[in-house]
Amino acid sequence: MNIQAPVETSGIRFLKGVGPKKALLLEKFGVRSPRDLLYFFPRRYEDRSHLKTISQVLPGETITLRGKILTVKLKPMRRTRLVEVLIGDETGAIPAIWFNQPYLKNQFQPDQEVIFYGKVDLYQDRLQMISPEYELFDQDQEGIHTGRITPIYPLTEGLFQRSLRTTLREVVQTQLEKSIQEYLTPAFRKEHQLMELSEAIREMHFPSSFQKLDEARYRIVFDEFLLFEMTLLKKIEHMKSKYRASALPIASTWIEDFKKSLPFRLTAGQESALKSLVEDLGKTIPMNRLLMGDVGSGKTVIAAFAALAAVKNNYQAAVLVPTEILAEQHYRTLARFLEAFSIPVELITASTPPARRERLIAELRQSKPMLLVGTHALLQEDIRFGKLSLVIVDEQHKFGVHQRCQLLNMNPRPHQLVMTATPIPRTLALTVYGDLDVSALKELPAGRKPVKTYWITRAKQEDVLLRILQKIQKGEQAYFIFPLIEETEKSDMLAATREYERLKKSVFKDISIGLVHGRLSTEERNRSMQAFNRGEISVLVATSVIEVGVDNPNTTAIVIENAERFGLSQLHQMRGRIGRGVNPSECFLFGEPKTEEGKKRLRILTKSQDGFLIAEEDLKLRGAGDFWGTRQSGEPLFHIANPVLDYEILLKTRKIALDLIHRSARESSPEWRAIQNHLEQFPLRY
Ligand code: ADP
Ligand code: MG
Repeated sequence: MNIQAPVETSGIRFLKGVGPKKALLLEKFGVRSPRDLLYFFPRRYEDRSHLKTISQVLPGETITLRGKILTVKLKPMRRTRLVEVLIGDETGAIPAIWFNQPYLKNQFQPDQEVIFYGKVDLYQDRLQMISPEYELFDQDQEGIHTGRITPIYPLTEGLFQRSLRTTLREVVQTQLEKSIQEYLTPAFRKEHQLMELSEAIREMHFPSSFQKLDEARYRIVFDEFLLFEMTLLKKIEHMKSKYRASALPIASTWIEDFKKSLPFRLTAGQESALKSLVEDLGKTIPMNRLLMGDVGSGKTVIAAFAALAAVKNNYQAAVLVPTEILAEQHYRTLARFLEAFSIPVELITASTPPARRERLIAELRQSKPMLLVGTHALLQEDIRFGKLSLVIVDEQHKFGVHQRCQLLNMNPRPHQLVMTATPIPRTLALTVYGDLDVSALKELPAGRKPVKTYWITRAKQEDVLLRILQKIQKGEQAYFIFPLIEETEKSDMLAATREYERLKKSVFKDISIGLVHGRLSTEERNRSMQAFNRGEISVLVATSVIEVGVDNPNTTAIVIENAERFGLSQLHQMRGRIGRGVNPSECFLFGEPKTEEGKKRLRILTKSQDGFLIAEEDLKLRGAGDFWGTRQSGEPLFHIANPVLDYEILLKTRKIALDLIHRSARESSPEWRAIQNHLEQFPLRY
């Protein structure tokens, strides 16, 4: 039997002018209820409010006219039919014409007053308007399509501007009172100069002036941020009160011993990160810290220290990393940092031999203190930690892991340290990682050389190859990188392979070259990487796999082909692979971006080495969209608020939210209660 799923009775399909078809289309925008529809705001506005007289009209202008219909004609043409409507005012007359829409003839009657909005053209020395937006003029009712600041809504196939606008008018007129209640107190609104909510929503759709529109937008943005901050802060409070972690007190002698064991002095940023760790880990409140620092800023040593604190306290610690190569590298590095402290460091990946895996599983269950480094293999069902107190996630540039890490679902809850190499611009940190405390490593370790970066067009590429050849003859090494984009993994691999063959036959014919790409087995890849790290291979041709973690200070040049296909932050990370040794390093971006924006992006890299600045620029050029990938629901966090552009309002509401929460802890606060009630009714999906 064919059982059909019950058709969901959409809250809007029975509204006047909506119907099942339009309801379905609107659902694509997440619009399900009249309230959603009221919050479905225009994408932009057109100012159609300034009326001109016909004698003022000039060809090429886009204008709004009001006049009386003089004649309506349907003219058959050779290939089409044309509707011509002649309108006149005190100063003259002008025809408007539409092609191929004969039914329009019936929309207009002589003597009607109409408003037209559109472009004026000159045709055979005569002025005319072609397919203007039109509306009958009604003395008693303001227009919605013309003669005003007109809303332009986002559309999808099958949804039309005119009909959507009419629907919204209807909904604003009939549903606003029913669906929207002001929840802020008058005193609060007065204090922060906020327009009343239903007025703001009405003005957002059908602004009475640009001034009012600004005030309305401010109110809506303010609401979005305030509710977001209240939700976030409450979540943090909740975390703090609900979960308990094991305290990991750190004796000052350990800190001294640890620092003394290092072959270098910590940077100021590292020192301060260390201090925060000591504070956080000493408490029974679960730590939730983000360690943010450019590639090469020295995050690993901080991770080692945190692990030391856990294991010294007889607990287990886990380090979760995205790739096997990186896991192995972290394993070696961490083991080296912790050598002096006789702490067991173990590795688990998909390639761990079964016997070893069994032994590890047994030891973990028996609560043996250790540091376990691993890929996602670490998250498998049968890996159970008996005494886990710290989880470190190295997400490199991949966001979002911190929200899903199932290792944290334990009692007591493990402390968490998330490491990321993508500097989150100041303007986004509050929202993307709003529930984490942040430590930032802003400076690179001393002795790091700046990497000179050049953008090279095709004509100059041979020169660059010769320059690299000279470096190699001096005993230095180089990377050649090709973009790897998932859908075209195969063709990129071919490109890398082809280039590898070409280099091997031409410029680098007397030199050993290696090739690494995602289609090779881990073993093959490791073999090439190791040969490269030992200096047996001088040039490594690769897809972007080296992006995640190779540390070979003898490499002083990196060539990135088709650089325009990478994101700015990604390019910056790849560039961070060089400039780690004693010799000067150079980065060559090969690329012919077609757009002005593409050129701008490459130019930014040649000018700046500051990961934070680069991320901020990237954000300005590409918008914040990419950063929202972190959210589980995938829906945008805000309807119209933009944390980059509206940053000032975000800061303000954060302060207000903090203040409200603190105040409500001491005394009864009607504002706080009102906002809580509102959030209970309309919870944020965060
Ligand atoms: P990332 O932040 O990219 O993970 P790493 O932890 O891999 O950076 O550090 C990069 C390199 O810098 C490593 O070789 C590390 O030993 C070294 N390093 C870390 N901190 C310092 C420091 N304070 N002074 C000098 N070298 C350092
Ligand atoms: Mg690292």
